[in-house]
Amino acid sequence: MIKRICRHMFLFGDLEMTENKLDDRMYRYTPNVGTVNGPIHCGVCGDVMNEEKDIVGARSFYGAMAGIKEHYDLFECPNHKENWHRQVVALRRRAAETCSARLEQVFREEANEILETRKATKVVY
Ligand SMILES: [Zn+2]
Repeated sequence: MIKRICRHMFLFGDLEMTENKLDDRMYRYTPNVGTVNGPIHCGVCGDVMNEEKDIVGARSFYGAMAGIKEHYDLFECPNHKENWHRQVVALRRRAAETCSARLEQVFREEANEILETRKATKVVY
């Protein structure tokens, strides 16, 4: 379901992406212009991401703060602003961060249930 999108490992914010798929919390992807051809599937929900080519600007919040302007392509999930999508990302982040194996399992199970129904169980900002 997830297509190969790059040859090299790199960092996207605090999320690491490996050779063959997007991180399971990754809904936005900004490769260098012309280096990746779609379709690319969202790492969170698996839907095909929207594509915009050759954008000029900052790739990240921190780049914007630093005033950095670059050329890049943008792949972004059409669902990323939906509450259920944000909740899945938040639950997976908590699952990755917790020191408890039990809590990790609980977070992942709730994220999977939300993905199946595409209905949030709680409002997440
Ligand atoms: Zn998505």
